[in-house]
Amino acid sequence: MGRWVGDNWCWDFQWRRNMFEWERAEWLEVESRIQNIDLRMGNLDCWEWIVGDDKIYTVKSAYKVLHYQKYGSEQHSLITSVWKLNIPPKGAIVVWQIFMNSLATCDNLLQRNIILPELESICKFCNEETESTSHVLFTCKVSDWLWKKCYNWASVSTVLSALLTQHFGKLPYSNLSAAVSKRWRVIVWCAIMWLLLGKRNNCGFKSQTCDIQLLYVEAQRTVWSWLRMEKNFKYTYMQWVVNSGACISN
Ligand SMILES: [Zn+2]
Repeated sequence: MGRWVGDNWCWDFQWRRNMFEWERAEWLEVESRIQNIDLRMGNLDCWEWIVGDDKIYTVKSAYKVLHYQKYGSEQHSLITSVWKLNIPPKGAIVVWQIFMNSLATCDNLLQRNIILPELESICKFCNEETESTSHVLFTCKVSDWLWKKCYNWASVSTVLSALLTQHFGKLPYSNLSAAVSKRWRVIVWCAIMWLLLGKRNNCGFKSQTCDIQLLYVEAQRTVWSWLRMEKNFKYTYMQWVVNSGACISN
C-alpha cells in the first residue's frame, strides 16, 4: 500500500492480477485524487466530507453534488429556485417536473423503453405531430400561439426558443426592473406552463378538446389569480383583461 519516507507518505500499490482495460480508467481517477492528499506522520487519520465549507456530510449536500453533476450549473440553479417561488404548490411541482425532464410525454417514455401505440403518441393539442415535451410546451402551434398572445400583453411580437432554459429566460424587454422581470419570468411563465400541461392531460386522459380561445381566457384568469398572490398586485380582473401589460409593469 505504501511507506513513510521521512515525514512523507509514498503510495506503493501492488495488485494480485493485471487490470482489465475498464478498470484502468477508474484507477487513474483514484490515483489522481490521492496524489493531492498530503499525509503527515503524527496527524490523526479521519474521514472528511470535502463538499461544503463545514466539511460535515449530510444527505442534502450529497444530493446537491449529484444533482449538480447531472444537470449542470444553470439547470441546477433553476431547479432549486423553483421551490422558492411565490406560486401555488401545484404550479411549483409541475415546473419542477419540467426542469427535471420527468413529464410522461412520449419522448420521455420512449427513453424508458415504453412505446405507445401510434395514435397515443400524437400531440393532444394539434393531433398532427409526435408528442415531445418540447413540442407540447413550446413548438406546437397551439402552445406557440398561446405564448405569443401572452407576449402581446407587452405589445411585442417575438420569436421564442424551443430550448427550456432559453424560453424561461425570455423577457419581452431587456430593461425591465427586477420586480417586473420576476412577474414575467416566474409568474406568467409558470402559470402558462401549468395551464398547458393540465390542458394536455385533460385532452389525453379525459378526451376533452382544446378550444384555443377558451385556452387563452383560462390563461388570462390563471395568470391574474397567481399575480394576485403578490400583495402589491391590486388590479381587478376587468382591469387586468383590458390592459394586462400595464398591470404587470406597474
Ligand atoms: Zn402539437
